[in-house]
Amino acid sequence: MKKYDVIIVGAGAAGVFMSYEMTKLPNRAKVLMIDKGMGLEKRVCPIKLGKTSSCIKCSPCHIMNGYGGAGTLSDGKYNITTQFGGDLHRYVGTEEAMGLMNYVDSVLCDMGGADAKLYSTGNSQLKTIALQNNLHLLDAKVRHLGTDRNMKILGRIFDYTKDRIDTQFGTLVSEVEKLPKGFRITTDKGESYECTDLVLATGRSGSKWISSVCNKMGIEMESNRVDIGVRVELPAEIFKHITDEVYESKIVYKTDKYNDQIRTFCMNPYGEVVSENTNGIVTVNGHSYADPALHTENTNFALLVSNKFTEPFKDSNEYGESIARLSNMLGGGVLLQRFGDLVKGRRSSERRMAKCFTRPTLKATPGDLSLVIPKRQLDNIIEMIYALDKIAPGTANEDTLLYGVEVKFYNSKVEVTENLETKVEGLYALGDGSGVTHSLSQASASGVWVARKLIEKYQ
Ligand SMILES: Cc1cc2nc3c(=O)[nH]c(=O)nc-3n(C[C@H](O)[C@H](O)[C@H](O)COP(=O)(O)OP(=O)(O)OC[C@H]3O[C@@H](n4cnc5c(N)ncnc54)[C@H](O)[C@@H]3O)c2cc1C
Repeated sequence: MKKYDVIIVGAGAAGVFMSYEMTKLPNRAKVLMIDKGMGLEKRVCPIKLGKTSSCIKCSPCHIMNGYGGAGTLSDGKYNITTQFGGDLHRYVGTEEAMGLMNYVDSVLCDMGGADAKLYSTGNSQLKTIALQNNLHLLDAKVRHLGTDRNMKILGRIFDYTKDRIDTQFGTLVSEVEKLPKGFRITTDKGESYECTDLVLATGRSGSKWISSVCNKMGIEMESNRVDIGVRVELPAEIFKHITDEVYESKIVYKTDKYNDQIRTFCMNPYGEVVSENTNGIVTVNGHSYADPALHTENTNFALLVSNKFTEPFKDSNEYGESIARLSNMLGGGVLLQRFGDLVKGRRSSERRMAKCFTRPTLKATPGDLSLVIPKRQLDNIIEMIYALDKIAPGTANEDTLLYGVEVKFYNSKVEVTENLETKVEGLYALGDGSGVTHSLSQASASGVWVARKLIEKYQ
């Protein structure tokens, strides 16, 4: 039985940044990080390899799991803000949260990210223009690393930590047991390890698993929201004046019809749309490369409506999953519809897609999103597209592509202290898996925060 001082379950953004910071631990303290996914070099989606044109539901999914977690093959947009991307500031305070995110940014720069431009909404004219059209641009600084540079940086962080932190890939932690002093974990390979402090950094793909651990340990979890919507793809020229200035614009709009808030999310200039597989359910996402040679002619972004349920139905994620399952049933994966077809109440077909001027970057099944997305959310999406058309004319073009469904699952919020420690002493929950964060910057920052708390303990 191998014994460690600290075991980190999950090598996503939170785990990676925690392991980076843990290299500052006194040498005698031993740390292990375990992930069910693969190391960087083995993380290739079969769609990218050209082995298949649609998601074949690898287990575990290379997009979501492995070193760097869901962030590795992402766009690598690190948003430095407390206005979105999680609630870390509610636990550690706004100043501390901003300090941690700026520290994460400085590490990324040291590891090769300094060439990537830091965009800011501060002093942007866009804010005024948006307001004049009843749209609200949220404040943020964002460093866009791009998928390619992001991978290189992660490779350097791994090299930096590998002599100090033991890492095991392709290993799922199945069981957690509380011992009189510390914890025992068991893996799917039947190995067991013991540790004094156990850190759960299992991200969205570990949502069901972390719930089972919390249930077993009697730790409270509060139901979180689920965001449902579509990924919009259009010619990059339409949003160029916005993306050139601020890169990622988080724009919020309150619809006339339902008074609901709907927002843009994860904007990828010159990017591509991708499918992602969370626990066997295929949804849609997007990313873009830093290298202009890898740019496409399109920009994509999500339009999302938040849904939270309380009584009698509480499981917001189950609601999101059911809608995604419906789209998977009708489309065999991701559905694709032209905006023009949607507003005319007809499905998109191969024949109509053949005449479409906007070329899709993801092979998806032409169909009818109105058979999948509930009317309320769909009405909100259509109203928002017309609202965006006022600041980016052409958004409401009939050839604008809508991929469905995009679902942002937020893990239930694990009850934790300001140190992100649960009521079980020595058991920590951080990153997206804890429901506290839902972005690269905040998940990484939460890893640094817990690492510093543990360094104080082991000093
Ligand atoms: C395609 C895509 C694009 C994105 N783009 C952006 C972006 O540009 N900017 C942004 O801010 N956010 C983006 N996100 C979200 C971002 O990736 C997440 O917010 C971030 O990765 C959360 O980090 P985390 O460490 O908490 O969890 P994750 O990154 O999800 O990592 C969790 C890790 O835990 C492992 N794990 C889970 N359960 C177990 C278990 N039982 N045993 C062992 N290992 C386990 C998983 O394999 C995974 O590697 C994107 C996400 C996707 C999928």
